[in-house]
Amino acid sequence: MDSFWWVLIVFGTGGFGWAADTVRTALKNRHERKLELMEAAKQERLALEAAHRTPEPVCGCTHHLAKHDKQGRCHERVEVPTAWDENKKPLRFEAGQCNCQQYVGPQPLSQVYAEDLTDRI
Ligand SMILES: [Zn+2]
Ligand SMILES: [Zn+2]
Repeated sequence: MDSFWWVLIVFGTGGFGWAADTVRTALKNRHERKLELMEAAKQERLALEAAHRTPEPVCGCTHHLAKHDKQGRCHERVEVPTAWDENKKPLRFEAGQCNCQQYVGPQPLSQVYAEDLTDRI
């Protein structure tokens, strides 16, 4: 019967406190894990939104493609530096035109292939 009383004492004092602490820690951990999951879900949603958004039709010169004419020349007004200091930092600007030619790089292979087909017809 001695051991029975020991068990009762342990549960009645420190043992109970320890058990309550364990439960509290477990609940806290679960809460933190839930927050982590929510954060992960948010990141995933943002990534999905970014993937589904159509890319901005912006040229390599940082101007919108609508500012370019059919020949690809950019008509956006830009500030052209006319004077520099000794650190090559522009001091004065003059209003000018962006001299972008809208080079879009080599054609993707799929387009070359399609043109090849239309040539034969
Ligand atoms: Zn451009
Ligand atoms: Zn431009």
